[in-house]
Amino acid sequence: MVNLYIRLVNSNMYEMKKLLLLLIIAAFQNAAAQVSDPDFNDKMAFSESRSYLKSVSFIESAEYSSYDLVYQRLNFEVDPAVNYISGSVLSKIKFLKQNTTEIHFDLASALIVDSVHFEGNAIVFQHQSDKITISLPANIQLNSFRQVEIFYHGSPPQTGFGSFVVSKHNDVPVLWTLSEPYGARDWWPCKQSLADKIDSVDIFIKSPGQYKAASNGKLISDDISGEKRTAHWQHRYPIATYLIGIAVTNYETYSDFVDLPGGNKVEILNYIYPEYLATAKSKSNETHDIMTFFNSRLIPYPFADEKYGHAQFGWGGGMEHQTMSFMTHLNFELVAHEMAHQWFGNYITLASWHDIWLNEGFATYLTGLVYENLLDGAGWPGWKQNQITRITSSPEGSVYVTDTTNVGRIFSGRLSYSKGAYLLHMLRWEMGDEPFFRSLKNYLEDPSVANGFATHDQFVKHLEAAADTSFTEFFNDWYYGEGYPKYNITEFPGDLGTTKIRVSQVASHPSVSFFEMHLPVRVWKDSQFKDLRLYHTEQNQEFVISEEKVDSIQFDPEKWLCAKADIVSPARNIAKSEQIQIIPEYATKKIRIILPEFSGKESFCIYDLNGRTVLTGILKMKDSRIETNALKNGIYLVEVKSKNIKRVKKLIVD
Ligand SMILES: [Zn+2]
Repeated sequence: MVNLYIRLVNSNMYEMKKLLLLLIIAAFQNAAAQVSDPDFNDKMAFSESRSYLKSVSFIESAEYSSYDLVYQRLNFEVDPAVNYISGSVLSKIKFLKQNTTEIHFDLASALIVDSVHFEGNAIVFQHQSDKITISLPANIQLNSFRQVEIFYHGSPPQTGFGSFVVSKHNDVPVLWTLSEPYGARDWWPCKQSLADKIDSVDIFIKSPGQYKAASNGKLISDDISGEKRTAHWQHRYPIATYLIGIAVTNYETYSDFVDLPGGNKVEILNYIYPEYLATAKSKSNETHDIMTFFNSRLIPYPFADEKYGHAQFGWGGGMEHQTMSFMTHLNFELVAHEMAHQWFGNYITLASWHDIWLNEGFATYLTGLVYENLLDGAGWPGWKQNQITRITSSPEGSVYVTDTTNVGRIFSGRLSYSKGAYLLHMLRWEMGDEPFFRSLKNYLEDPSVANGFATHDQFVKHLEAAADTSFTEFFNDWYYGEGYPKYNITEFPGDLGTTKIRVSQVASHPSVSFFEMHLPVRVWKDSQFKDLRLYHTEQNQEFVISEEKVDSIQFDPEKWLCAKADIVSPARNIAKSEQIQIIPEYATKKIRIILPEFSGKESFCIYDLNGRTVLTGILKMKDSRIETNALKNGIYLVEVKSKNIKRVKKLIVD
């Protein structure tokens, strides 16, 4: 982000107009640049209803291991104006135990089961405590396949976290579902499991003819018959129960297409409220660029044979339903986050809610990578600062979720999202880019987790293999432990004119005694810097940071670590004007200006060698960058004024 207020002074009218145009374009691009949300949370409604959610819990049925869900056909009839659903769910199951005598499905007790059919015949069942228990005929053979169909109806319970919601947008009824983590049973009879993906599903949604229904996978048909319309969606990839969703309203639909490596294309199918259509369409390029980036940085979009899509809903955030994210709006950060979940969360799903960071921490970090790699990287420093500020706003809390009955804690923005994301960022710092990104790819390509579930340890195994080191200590401190380190760095003169620092740390929480980390330290001398990487393994450790006197040191200027630091430096006898740093960044055609202090009145001015001003402005931050794209090739002087001091530096544009 460029922070400057531009005023043009130039005697040559033609040049002035040209420069003005260029600067207006630059300013416009700048205004459109994306800024990350310091409180981002795609599941914000969970946090908001935290007190209610304290009691929500779910225990996976022990009997679930007796069968494998091979296929489900879901038939729903709904009307977005009414809190009601009726339908049937046909399940093809494979028995994993000899002589299984009963099986279970989850369904809220508030709904009514009309009948259960086993191999086409009505069969005895019980429905209580949110569970359907079905007694089976004798002699069920191991590895045999059978069909169970459950017919049901009723008003889905309003459990407070919106698993089945009827609402309105622009005075038009809208219905959506959102089952994560424990809400699928509120609206359909299901196996609410984190151990068994449904290998394949067909979803039929019947609703009044004026509406369209969005769901997972490919739209096979969408036909009107009489007053009703039925959409048939088909998904032929394994899917976790909580990732199935439906949304129904007067959608407008349109598609964009993204090229895949290898020549194919993936469809981006949008189901959008009519009143938001024009805005949504204006975001197509952003969505396209994010998908292209993920395809190249990770592995190609895992459900490319079907589609990716957005269905608008009114929940206040987003939900990464597989192949069809439900979105409040197509905000840049939300689009990136929900799309990232298709890889981390959907293609590979957490095996336990304790390890929610495998979903939310990863999707948050991938959003950070989008800020780093798209839009000139302008949003990246701000994204990192936002995460650190949020994480360190409280001294405690582990990324690991100890209490999975507390849905507000599972979806804690500070811990599961921001700190989870920063664990990945710090691992990248510790490992280096190439091994880090290789470990992500290896994880995505691991057949024991791809299209299935992963534990925390399964991910760590890939990190350790790529880095050829153990991360036990790292995860004990950063994942199971709480808090972050506060560093104290004292600079002092060493022997023979060298400069040294002494580093100690205090953990913000007693669960961690010492964070062993490589510390990024930047050493400045004559407006040049050198970056050091110091391995901090004990209190009061000393490091030689330069063979000579230095002008200043900075702790972690690129924000690799989730930490705070105090630096104590000896009083320096530096000319006041040299405290203003003017650093040409030739690669990006920018000038970086760092002020010793900031009052909002500091200004800069760029002249050519004839003394004519070509660019001037007010500096809006202590550390800012100025675009020099608009300057013709040549030599210039950059002058920065801060209170009553002034510094001038030469700038070569070529
Ligand atoms: Zn998320």
